Amino acid sequence: IPLNQENLSNLPESVVVPKYDRNQLQAGIVHIGVGGFHRSHEAFYTDEFLSLSQSTEWGICGMGLREADRKIGDILKQQDYLYTLMVKHPDGRQENRVIGSIVDFVMACDDPHAATDKLAHEQTKIVSLTITEGGYNFNAATNEFDFSNPDVQYDLEHPDTPKMIFGFLTEALRKRRAAGIPAFTIQSCDNIQHNGDMTRKMLLAFAEKQDPELAKWIAAEVCFPNAMVDRITPVTTLQDISDLEEVGVQDLWPVTCEPFTQWIIEDSFSNGRPAWETVGAQFVTDVTPYELMKIRLLNAGHSVLGLLGSIHGHETIDGCIADPLFATYVRRFMDEEATPILQHVDGIDLDDYKSTLIERFGNPNIKDNLARICLESSSKLPKFLIPTIAENLAKGGGIKFATLVLAAWCYYSDKGINKFGDTLDIVDEMKDELHQFASKTESDSLSFLKLESVFGDLIQNEAFTQQYCYSVQTLYQNVDIEAQMNELLGEGV
Ligand code: NAD
Repeated sequence: IPLNQENLSNLPESVVVPKYDRNQLQAGIVHIGVGGFHRSHEAFYTDEFLSLSQSTEWGICGMGLREADRKIGDILKQQDYLYTLMVKHPDGRQENRVIGSIVDFVMACDDPHAATDKLAHEQTKIVSLTITEGGYNFNAATNEFDFSNPDVQYDLEHPDTPKMIFGFLTEALRKRRAAGIPAFTIQSCDNIQHNGDMTRKMLLAFAEKQDPELAKWIAAEVCFPNAMVDRITPVTTLQDISDLEEVGVQDLWPVTCEPFTQWIIEDSFSNGRPAWETVGAQFVTDVTPYELMKIRLLNAGHSVLGLLGSIHGHETIDGCIADPLFATYVRRFMDEEATPILQHVDGIDLDDYKSTLIERFGNPNIKDNLARICLESSSKLPKFLIPTIAENLAKGGGIKFATLVLAAWCYYSDKGINKFGDTLDIVDEMKDELHQFASKTESDSLSFLKLESVFGDLIQNEAFTQQYCYSVQTLYQNVDIEAQMNELLGEGV
């Protein structure tokens, strides 16, 4: 049965459908970047909220800034903005749920005036974003706004026909200010530490160049709540679409995800918000400890499995977890090295969090490829893993599990093969530099660590270099990562 509003009551009983009156909904939220993650996360929470409350003001209008968004816009329109969320459980069960919270879609690049009018409309109270890390237009080396981008130059000169996100937001806020309409909240849901602060900094940098008076108004009136977001959402496959057809729903672009979901938000909104806390989101005053917990356990755990697993010849995260050696190793890393230096996290039992992580990693229906996990390790490890080593060194904590991961990364960057000699698919902006430093390891065991922009001053610490030399030399003598992991696990704490 083709998915649309009229057919909702004819769908198989196993499929959950929205029961609220979608015709009554106003779009209090405009969401820019309607990719898989928005549809598995914010739109899901909002659908839950609309199902529980009588609210009519918090529907979502999707917005696409790029040509690439045309496909999702067309499909959503054809399906009355409905789509199916396929939640895949570790035991193979799958829950299918039609999400009804999106009620409109605007292709901003077709008609920038209409798009900024929509954003400036007084019904729009929140503008949320999932535009990927690249969408924020910052220079990764300096964390400053990148004015060299030609679209930025265009937007600065053409305020009323913008092309990029900060041009649209600035023009919409200019219209609101002129009309005496209160500012909207700008809510980033991208995977960036302190994503609200980052959005604010980038928007103000742009607005100050274009219209300093307006920039002052934005600084005073717009809230940018920081948030930690989490739900593994792989790319939809043709197989997913045909699996759903077997169930009896013809949906041109469903979304798949794991059952786990988390959204921790700083409660600072300029113009009201849905009571997302009634459906599982958590509002806090400071998101920092939650971000650290996620980065040091989930993201670091991914890197531990990704690099060791790649050398060993595993292909996916669930493949690693199915191997008891890897499952034990990553848990011991979390318990003995990552957890002792985490702050207390309100409302979270870290033991439960870690057990859930291992279960999530092991979900056989979510095939997370190790090549994807390891891509851009040079920007990941300095945030996810190296600070854990540095803090443990300062406090006398353990470092051996994490250190082996750096030794494995050296071998990976140097040789680019696994222990069977198969070539690994390495994607990293610093690939050449990493290779250059790693490739001198046989004559100088510490060579890789001399890459200061990645490792900082770790090389100055003797306790660390001793452990590292042992790991890297052993690995180069015999690429038996399994033997080293076993040895470290056997040593006790
Ligand atoms: P996706 O590729 O499905 O969607 C990305 C969306 O961002 C598209 O609508 C695209 O047009 C838009 N976009 C990209 N660059 C842009 C730009 N420069 N300006 C405006 N729009 C732009 O990806 P996704 O899986 O939805 O992930 C999006 C983001 O969500 C990630 O980058 C990450 O920050 C966050 N996230 C994803 C996951 C996940 O598991 N997929 C989990 C947590 C957080």
